[in-house]
Amino acid sequence: MEQTINTKIVYTPTEDDLISAADLLRTGGLVAIPTETVYGLGVNALLSEAAPKVYAAKGRPSDNPLIIHLADAADAERYAITCDAFDRLATAFMPGPLTVILPKRDCIPDSVTGGLATVAVRVPSHPIAHRLIELCGFPVAAPSANLSGRPSTTTVEHVIEDMKGRVDMILDGGASDIGLESTIVLPKEDGSLVLLRPGAITVEMLEEEGFTVTLDKAVTARLQEGEQPLAPGMKYRHYAPRARVILLSGERESVQAAMEPYRDRADTALICYADDTVADASNARVLGAFERRDEQARNLFDLLRSFDSQTEITRIYAPLPDRKGIGLALFNRMLKAAGYDIEEV
Ligand code: AMP
Ligand code: MG
Repeated sequence: MEQTINTKIVYTPTEDDLISAADLLRTGGLVAIPTETVYGLGVNALLSEAAPKVYAAKGRPSDNPLIIHLADAADAERYAITCDAFDRLATAFMPGPLTVILPKRDCIPDSVTGGLATVAVRVPSHPIAHRLIELCGFPVAAPSANLSGRPSTTTVEHVIEDMKGRVDMILDGGASDIGLESTIVLPKEDGSLVLLRPGAITVEMLEEEGFTVTLDKAVTARLQEGEQPLAPGMKYRHYAPRARVILLSGERESVQAAMEPYRDRADTALICYADDTVADASNARVLGAFERRDEQARNLFDLLRSFDSQTEITRIYAPLPDRKGIGLALFNRMLKAAGYDIEEV
């Protein structure tokens, strides 16, 4: 798409800026919004002609539905048919990084849900996102504010890089606190949950609230030709830098030993943990402290994005994360970045 729109970039937005942003959204404009997970590319979810602009700006296939963002979980009933599981999830985790799939009501246009009979609902906790949606008085449909196929955006600089010239306004809200997209769950008739996309609301946290959780196959494995994930977006290539990413699976020591031969090579980057033996190599990129999965989550997309400007790098080695807590979300995103390329060490 040609870059034709004059994008207004607003650093530290004031209440008046948010009122302007809400006016833009009301009339069908595109506004990039900071949230606690990643930046979102927002449009008015009740205007059927607005969603296609998001798909065009991102270069995203239009069968990949958008999440609608609400100021308050109590508003969900107006746009979707809620259930007991939704109420319990809302009490425990909203506002926050959790998206719930529910049967949609007619006021939500097909263009938002990619023609599905269901709609994805989330209540973001970021104060700018929350206040903006409150001022709007209508739900804001938003996918992540990145060009399709690139890692999601977690800083205003990332958003400017991908979206300047393609959207009406970009609101700065600092670096995203979590750094990975929301957890997506689908409540089943029996009250159990299917996890469609892992995120900061972990399987363990859902189980602690008394839910039985099963994982959609697309969370941990490559789907076969013809298989459909429950979340259409999970089938697309995502997060992948230009360079080939290879995940090393094994004990921490074995992974470090496997990286050592590539120390200081200009054509290879080594993603590692803070006090790994290779962390002092000139080609090492530290993801975070070994035990700090939250820190690793916050840094991952920035790190993956940084490789695209370093054309000499053709290969990236990274440790395969374990699946504990938010580790499952890191595991899922890195698996996709690597195109499921795993080497046992
Ligand atoms: P993003 O907007 O980039 O965070 O991606 C939104 C994710 O939510 C995609 O993976 C979509 O496929 C998924 N999603 C949105 N709406 C639905 C729905 N009604 N049913 C299943 N998945 C959905
Ligand atoms: Mg996305």
